[in-house]
Parts: sequence; structure tokens; C-alpha cells
Amino acid sequence: MNNCEKFRPMLVGLLDRELDPQESAEVNEHLMRCSACREEYERLRETSGKLEAVAFEEPSDEVLRRLWRNPFSRISRIGGILLVIAGYAALIGFALFEFFTSGEEGFWIRVPVAAIAIGFLILLLLVILERVKTYGKDPYREIER
Ligand SMILES: [Zn+2]
Repeated sequence: MNNCEKFRPMLVGLLDRELDPQESAEVNEHLMRCSACREEYERLRETSGKLEAVAFEEPSDEVLRRLWRNPFSRISRIGGILLVIAGYAALIGFALFEFFTSGEEGFWIRVPVAAIAIGFLILLLLVILERVKTYGKDPYREIER
């Protein structure tokens, strides 16, 4: 009986293969002789088997995470950002082209407008570049908070 009390807590360790060889040999020897502990061990194994089955359903999340990390989705994300930049650039370029070709305004109003537009584009590029740079480095970005 005393032995059982000693070995019961080790059954979980045996199940999880956390015991050193000496301990697991002792527990195994006890299990061979003690049917009560053998039953307890079987019960634990069944329970942990169920737990494993439940845990096994989780990988859908893991699959999504792996997909998100794989090189293709990384490339497509950068591609998306580049398309947005190209779109902005085209839009601003078109607006500037319209402004400079059809405007009746004098030269001195065109210069500051162009400066503002180009300055805005540069700032936008800097923000996006900074974002892309830090995105590659931030180790916490994929951890849900
Ligand atoms: Zn026992």
C-alpha cells in the first residue's frame, strides 16, 4: 500500500516519459505486481489519449499561421504594398499632369502644389518602407494579444 502511494504520482511521469530510466524501471516493476496501479495507469493513459485527440484539433490554427509565414504569402503581401504605392504614385502623377497641362494658373502656384504633392509622396513612401522594415523584424507580430 505504501508503495502505491509512492508510485501513483509517478504514473503520469511514466506516461509522459518524464522519468529517468531508474524511476521508470521501478514504476514498471510495481505495475507488473500491482493490479490497482495498473488500472490507474490504464485510466490515465485513456484520459491522456483523449486529451491528445482534443489537442489534435488545434492545428487548423497552426496551418493558417504557417501559411501566413510561408514565402509566397510574404511576397504577395509585399506585392500588395507595392501595388498600393504604385497606385498612389499613378494617382498623384495623373493629378499633377492634369494640373500642369490644363491649368490656367501661373507658374508660382504650380511649384508649391507640386512640392506638397511630392513631399506627401515621399512621406508616404517613408512610412511604408519603415513599416515593411519593422514588419520583418518584429518577433511579436504573430502572437495574438
Ligand atoms: Zn500499486
